[in-house]
Amino acid sequence: MVKRIAVIGAGSAGTSVAYCLSELNSSAENSRHDSFKVVVYEEEAYSGGRAHSINFEGVEIEVGGSIIHSSNRHICELMDFVGIKRITPGLNVDGDDETLGFWNGRKIYLVCKNKMTSFISKLLLAFGPVTCASFAHYATKALKKWKNVYDIGAVATIERLVKQLKIRHLVCKSMYDYYKKHAVSKKFSKNFAEPIINNMYNQNGYINSFAAQVSLAGAGLAGGELFSIDGGNGQLFGKVLEKLQKNHKVTVNYNTKVAEIIINKSKITVVSELNMQNDDKKVVKREIFDTVVLASAIELSDIKITDNTGNVSPIKKRKMQPVFVTLVSGTLSNGHFGLAPEEIMPSTVFVKSNIGLQYNSIGITGVDKDGNRLYKIFSERKLNDELLAQLFSSYKKPKEFVWKGAFPRLEADITINPWSDFELLPNRLYYTSAIESIASTIEVSAVAGWNVADLIKEHEGSSNE
Ligand SMILES: Cc1cc2nc3c(=O)[nH]c(=O)nc-3n(C[C@H](O)[C@H](O)[C@H](O)COP(=O)(O)OP(=O)(O)OC[C@H]3O[C@@H](n4cnc5c(N)ncnc54)[C@H](O)[C@@H]3O)c2cc1C
Repeated sequence: MVKRIAVIGAGSAGTSVAYCLSELNSSAENSRHDSFKVVVYEEEAYSGGRAHSINFEGVEIEVGGSIIHSSNRHICELMDFVGIKRITPGLNVDGDDETLGFWNGRKIYLVCKNKMTSFISKLLLAFGPVTCASFAHYATKALKKWKNVYDIGAVATIERLVKQLKIRHLVCKSMYDYYKKHAVSKKFSKNFAEPIINNMYNQNGYINSFAAQVSLAGAGLAGGELFSIDGGNGQLFGKVLEKLQKNHKVTVNYNTKVAEIIINKSKITVVSELNMQNDDKKVVKREIFDTVVLASAIELSDIKITDNTGNVSPIKKRKMQPVFVTLVSGTLSNGHFGLAPEEIMPSTVFVKSNIGLQYNSIGITGVDKDGNRLYKIFSERKLNDELLAQLFSSYKKPKEFVWKGAFPRLEADITINPWSDFELLPNRLYYTSAIESIASTIEVSAVAGWNVADLIKEHEGSSNE
């Protein structure tokens, strides 16, 4: 019997589910598993979700998830599947490595090259050996624990995931409290770790300490290589889905928004609206599935879930963090940042939190065909012209991209950031974004997708025995 599975969302999580299930399909003839018919629904005309790039001044710029780490095993597997190339993100300004500067509104108080050797010497000098040794020890330990995620097998709940990985103490403690407990100085938390988190998550040191470690790894502090995908991160998912459509049993419906999921005793109805291009008309469809995977954050999905069984575990809504992305072609003003005209501006400037500035980071993100530098600024609100005129000595009309909800507020406090389950109804309804309550990255979503596909596979295995 062919099992019909709907996947809602063609981002990292949804694409991972489709990929893993069609990998199973390839070997279905030789195994005891039934094969799957997978239908992906995507409300946009493109895949990738929050891994998305836009064209600015003739250059493709990431406005969502941009940095991938070489330890991101699942994303690397998807890249190999379609033979896609890596590029180095962040540009150098001095013909050497990318430089990171830390800014407190008055001066740039710390500059490191984005290289392990530079981090070590600069951090030792700025924060002392005890803080540095303790930070390095606990960061390595956290990363090692997370890497076990590739070996633990499928888990139905976040509670189970954090237990298996032995990271509950990290997820349930804020970065401030965790570092304090482990002899990492407050100066380090405030002046180094928090500005990086401010850049990655637009949030402060009350973020859970697991997500904090993820941010620091994303800035290169865990070693390994940082990269982006040639042509834009989002197109990885489009290419994977295109190949799956050609080779396997996957259908992708773009421009199709799922409006409602109706769960009855034996079947699930997915009600979707196909948005007709160049026409206001919407074509409403009702299709029947055995299993549905919600592969988007419920807070961003606008989906009604009607449970006629009374057995579906509820999805708990979280507070989401808005992020404004402002792209500017121009020249940053050395004077504004307290630098002499001949001094070199760092390629990325991280802003200290809670100092009343409107923006959280500014970084070079590309160079146009005339050699002008293109900058990306993250902020919580729209930037005003007055501020841009202060930041840049000259600039052209900026372009904005707004994420109403970029990721959950990742506080350690589960009353603010509650946990939902991956398995909302065994063998029937699954939710990948449950994982975003502990951290939110492209790989973390892929891990959730792989996990949900494994849960579905386990149920198939046991029902066929
Ligand atoms: C500004 C920003 C910077 C970031 N930086 C990084 C970074 O440097 N590195 C990193 O690893 N991560 C980063 N992230 C996080 C990362 O991009 C996300 O965690 C990840 O892409 C989420 O993937 P997902 O598949 O879970 O969800 P999404 O990418 O949100 O995918 C969900 C998909 O579902 C679709 N959808 C939603 N509702 C419906 C519906 N009703 N019907 C049909 N389709 C629907 C959406 O259109 C979307 O395509 C960043 C995110 C943002 C916003």
